[in-house]
Amino acid sequence: MGSESSMEPLGPGSTGPAVADVRAALRSLGLLAVDAAAGESVGEEYDPATELAVRHFQQVRGLSVDGRVGEETYRALSEARWSLGDRLLHHDPERPMRGDDVTNLQERLLELGYDAGRADGIFGRETETGLRAFQRDYGLTADGTCGPGTLRALRQLGRKVTGGRPQLLRQSANFVDSGPHLIGRRIVVDPGHGGADTGFTAGETTEADLVLDLASRIEGRLAAAGATVYLTRGRDQNPTAEQRTAFANDARADLFISLHMDAHGSEHARGVASYYYGTGSGTSSTVGERFADLARREMVARTGMLDLGGHPKTWDLLRWTRMPAVRLDCGYLSHPVDRLLLLDARLRGTVASAVLAAVQRLFLPAEADPPTGTFVLPQKV
Ligand SMILES: [Zn+2]
Repeated sequence: MGSESSMEPLGPGSTGPAVADVRAALRSLGLLAVDAAAGESVGEEYDPATELAVRHFQQVRGLSVDGRVGEETYRALSEARWSLGDRLLHHDPERPMRGDDVTNLQERLLELGYDAGRADGIFGRETETGLRAFQRDYGLTADGTCGPGTLRALRQLGRKVTGGRPQLLRQSANFVDSGPHLIGRRIVVDPGHGGADTGFTAGETTEADLVLDLASRIEGRLAAAGATVYLTRGRDQNPTAEQRTAFANDARADLFISLHMDAHGSEHARGVASYYYGTGSGTSSTVGERFADLARREMVARTGMLDLGGHPKTWDLLRWTRMPAVRLDCGYLSHPVDRLLLLDARLRGTVASAVLAAVQRLFLPAEADPPTGTFVLPQKV
């Protein structure tokens, strides 16, 4: 998969070196079995197995599935064959580097709390800036190039940082109990729906109104604790996911909390669920997961609602935000008991207090004993 020149789409019946390239890429991705009879030779025939593998690949990558290899699928195949460590990564304004290794680097930086831009697999200016900041903090040469030394540092940190972002660990280590605890924290609260989009309804009351009310209560409590709080919408607005996340990114928020309520055809469905950015198998936001967990547990403990667990999702709202982002689904409007609770203003106050407690626990780990032994705070010069 060398050149990026424009190409005729490949499909069933095609043959030649370009098909061999495609088959080799599919094989390296584990999508095409090695033919024992053919040995090392990948073959130049676009056979039914090739078509099937291409369809599979297109499906997994979210491309339109036609079993043929045009420009888009070809580019995606080229990008997919890179894994972190295969090559030096750096910012090339003329020909930006693209690939799954870049996505992986961006996700790791974001997970560690460095703003590396969107995890879009394109090494741009923002990725470089995030990488340099990481290198500076870890005493590496801040050259913005991801080579062996930087990779080693990233791997060593790996999943060991479970208590929060390194900066937060550093701050909590130095933390002195003085004044309101959340001063300097910027938190965006995102009431779902709005305007003409009412979400689910419970009699005359709408999910949109209830989550806005809840957001205001959370805003009040967080502000009283010293945080700077922004809401993504007023009563009559219904921003898109892109607008909501852009708003949070522009606000340089430390945390993004999206609020929803559920409903279901079965009146038995009930309880509280939380969602954070994650693919389920690979990377996930450690801080996001932790906050999702804290908020749900605080809520369940204070309201007696059912605990439906925390779940990794790749929703745009969670993926496009550059800070830990969590969506809380605070009960079912279709369930008789959940609905009674949610329609009660005092209960919504209780939920808001639960969210405040979770934010405090996130930023002020009572475990001011970060996972020492697994993470050594670098010396600040
Ligand atoms: Zn909703």
